[in-house]
Amino acid sequence: MNTIGVVGAGRMGSGIAQVMAQAGYDVILFDISNETLQRALENIKRHLQRAIELGTIKKEQLRNILTKIHPTTKLKHFMTADIVFEAVIEDLDVKRKIFQELDDRCAPTTILATNTSSLSVTKIASATENPYRVIGTHFFNPPYVLKLVEVVKTQNTSDEVVGKTVKFLKDIGHSPVVVKDSPGFIVNRISRHFYLEPLRAYEIGLADIEEIDQAFKLLGLELGPFEMIDYVGLDLNYVVSKSIYERFNYEERFRPVTFQAWLVEAGLLGRKTNSGFYNYVGKDKKVQDFLKREKIKYKFSKKFLNLADTICKKILSRKDELNETQKVVLALTIAMIVNEGFYALMEDLASKDDINLAFRLVRFPAGPFEFAEQIGLRNILNFLNLAQVELMSGRYKPALLLARKSE
Ligand code: NAD
Repeated sequence: MNTIGVVGAGRMGSGIAQVMAQAGYDVILFDISNETLQRALENIKRHLQRAIELGTIKKEQLRNILTKIHPTTKLKHFMTADIVFEAVIEDLDVKRKIFQELDDRCAPTTILATNTSSLSVTKIASATENPYRVIGTHFFNPPYVLKLVEVVKTQNTSDEVVGKTVKFLKDIGHSPVVVKDSPGFIVNRISRHFYLEPLRAYEIGLADIEEIDQAFKLLGLELGPFEMIDYVGLDLNYVVSKSIYERFNYEERFRPVTFQAWLVEAGLLGRKTNSGFYNYVGKDKKVQDFLKREKIKYKFSKKFLNLADTICKKILSRKDELNETQKVVLALTIAMIVNEGFYALMEDLASKDDINLAFRLVRFPAGPFEFAEQIGLRNILNFLNLAQVELMSGRYKPALLLARKSE
């Protein structure tokens, strides 16, 4: 690879361009307006200056990196690119049109990669005449910090294109994991339960926002689920949940919670509006007053509570700091993450090692199968089976593979 193309100079596109230029490649960066391109270059410069302060790059490198990025508003300049990363807005029609044009203009050997997080790569590829060269490369935000890239192959992506993409990403110091084209790929799909279980627990009055966030931090996470949703944006998080739910034919375990949609409608989008589950005006963030509510004292069976306690004991050194509801929410979430790992494995989505690795690279303390090993499959199976009864919900139905493996 010599020349890299990037289409879309927003948050992700400018980050990907920065990664490529830092790795020493010439980058052609496309967007629809010169103003957007200018803003992208300024942002990249700011990130590089921060990298100098942190000591990750030298001051002398800054100019050299910036001169490697060539902004353009004309797609015809992509003729010389060896690989093109598309990172425009998440809109199927817009992406299909771009891929059709890239397919027409680029050399037959150019790899065409999309950064989509929730659309079907297969549908994007079907706009081209050469779907064998279309692949997903799902970078995480920000791409110059997070090394994980989900390399998404469709039924039509050639093995050669997969191999070359994986090698290239490894060469520039990123960590690719290969996954079949499917809703949410690995991370967005399996980590849905990190959001949906806490949201549901709050919705049914089982636990409050702050105590759930605190419980997850004991697991070693920097942000709890509500803090994390505020960080990425309630709107974006909801759109991804909704898309995964729809693409899984309305599977109960992926059902988004309605009150999140209401908050989005009210313009409470998280940190970017200074107001989400927490209010960020002032020195310390506080849970929004109107989201404070009376908890409902649910009576669970002793067996269920004991299992929640056991699960927490196996994954936490400080589980004694948790109250009963915190243990239940944490145990439900981890059990559902493990369960989803088994659903994914059953569908031959990716390898066990890649699924675990992807999770650790987005800073979870362990991957689904590592949690499974710590906790014991029997415990998870029994807990999920009881959860179906205790919470009267089919969402906790164990994956067939999990049930069989625990025998
Ligand atoms: P963004 O809104 O910051 O940037 C999108 C860019 O696309 C804008 O600069 C816009 O001008 C440009 N654009 C719109 N229409 C275009 C067209 N027809 N041709 C060329 N450029 C056009 O969005 P983003 O957050 O960078 O997301 C980009 C892609 O990356 C999406 O597919 C998104 O799902 C995916 N993604 C986002 C994140 C994230 O955390 N933001 C993480 C992983 C993947």
